[in-house]
Amino acid sequence: MSLGWPGNASGSPWKSWKEVSGSVDMSAASCLLTEDQFLCSICLDVFTDPVSTPCGHNFCKTCITEHWTINVQCHCPNCKEVFYTRPELQVNTFISEMAAQFR
Ligand SMILES: [Zn+2]
Ligand SMILES: [Zn+2]
Repeated sequence: MSLGWPGNASGSPWKSWKEVSGSVDMSAASCLLTEDQFLCSICLDVFTDPVSTPCGHNFCKTCITEHWTINVQCHCPNCKEVFYTRPELQVNTFISEMAAQFR
């Protein structure tokens, strides 16, 4: 009696499945404020006592005051909006505090 087994083809029964892993976007929420958002367009430096003009632009108090002293007509150096009366300038404390972080 001979137990002759035919060569058993060793086939691995398991399936090899690939996990398709989508590339995870690791870009962090870049909602951080950048320095150039706090730059005065007159002195090109971070605001010192930032004031807001009626048109919504911000400048250093000294910069815009000087600008309006030199120029007969008050206008915004950014958008050229003309102010027939010299606007009351108040230091924007919020921007001032934010700008202080870049000093
Ligand atoms: Zn300035
Ligand atoms: Zn403006």
